[in-house]
Amino acid sequence: MDYYSSQITKLIEELSKLPGIGSKSAQRLAFHIINMPREQVERLSTSIMDAKENVRYCKECCTLTDRELCPICASSQRDHKTIMVVENTRDLAAYEKTGRYEGVYHVLHGAISPMLGIGPGDIRLKELMNRLQRQEVEEVIIATNSSLEGETTAMYISKLIKPAGIRVTRIASGVPVGGDLEYIDEVTLLRALDGRTEL
Ligand code: ZN
Repeated sequence: MDYYSSQITKLIEELSKLPGIGSKSAQRLAFHIINMPREQVERLSTSIMDAKENVRYCKECCTLTDRELCPICASSQRDHKTIMVVENTRDLAAYEKTGRYEGVYHVLHGAISPMLGIGPGDIRLKELMNRLQRQEVEEVIIATNSSLEGETTAMYISKLIKPAGIRVTRIASGVPVGGDLEYIDEVTLLRALDGRTEL
């Protein structure tokens, strides 16, 4: 039975497609939105559309940005000879929050997972290899998660890069197994970075 008007049902349906939003939360959000002042709803929907239209991948490191080059790649203050490889933009943000890492990044947008059918061609690995060919890079720090997928990805990248004579390191495994980098506190992140080992 349709308790609500079809518009509300539609809104609840769309909201419940978002990650982590069950049908209860979707209902709560839908009613909250309906009770919000009109201008606030407009700001919300405009910012969703703006983000969707303008956000793209940095042509250097593949992070999400609204410019051709993200602020980190565009900065002359950063050490462009050190590249930290992370799984996603949230991991990059976690390291940026520490304020201590001075190199640049490469965002893979995923990790290799034979179980889920995600191969090397499905993540932004080709872009990393192109970058290494074009630029003079001294060290690649692999900071993928310590999950099975993250470790598989780290090993794969290391095998690919090492023959080129580039130093490849892996962040220390003080990071809990399977832990998403974004949930780990800054001290732990810095310890993992400082304790990185050669691959
Ligand atoms: Zn960038």
